[in-house]
Amino acid sequence: MVDEIKTHTSIEDLFAREFPGVKLIRRGHRLWAWCPFHQERTPSFVIDTIKQRFHCFGCGTGGDFLDFYAKVHNLDTREAIRQLAAEYGLTRNLTPQERKAALQARKEREQAKELDAKLVETVKAARLECFDAERQIHQILITHEEDLDKPEVIWALANKARVEYLADLFTSGTPSEQLQAAIAVRGWQHE
Ligand SMILES: [Zn+2]
Repeated sequence: MVDEIKTHTSIEDLFAREFPGVKLIRRGHRLWAWCPFHQERTPSFVIDTIKQRFHCFGCGTGGDFLDFYAKVHNLDTREAIRQLAAEYGLTRNLTPQERKAALQARKEREQAKELDAKLVETVKAARLECFDAERQIHQILITHEEDLDKPEVIWALANKARVEYLADLFTSGTPSEQLQAAIAVRGWQHE
């Protein structure tokens, strides 16, 4: 059963779908990332794509794709096998209806992940844009403090408070606040 599941997935696939938006940095056949299991400043989590093993030099966690899936979802190995087998429609003695339900559930999960990844990208782009606007505003106000009739100064003064507020949300807001901030940034682009 484990070998059968293996033909349907890999650690890097599981990583990408469980942590959409977390960057994997390729060096040869190894992929490095910021460890999803502990807080760190530099990536010490590595996936060996040939051996299909992962290891974190920071917190010491590691193993194969089943250990990875089990750790992400806080399952024992047996339950991890059961869930993945069901997801890929590999559970024996499934009725046609159960098989159809498993495939449908998998499709929905994949769509949700895809949407998630798109949202992560949208928030990231809006955050950069907002920080950029904040820098520009500060620059304009430092250089042209006295020229209150210049259009860019008027623009900077009119938007300073709002942009700083959104930049704060991007820096220390909850994911949902950051999404709200991204929507606001999208809105100001269309003004
Ligand atoms: Zn770690």
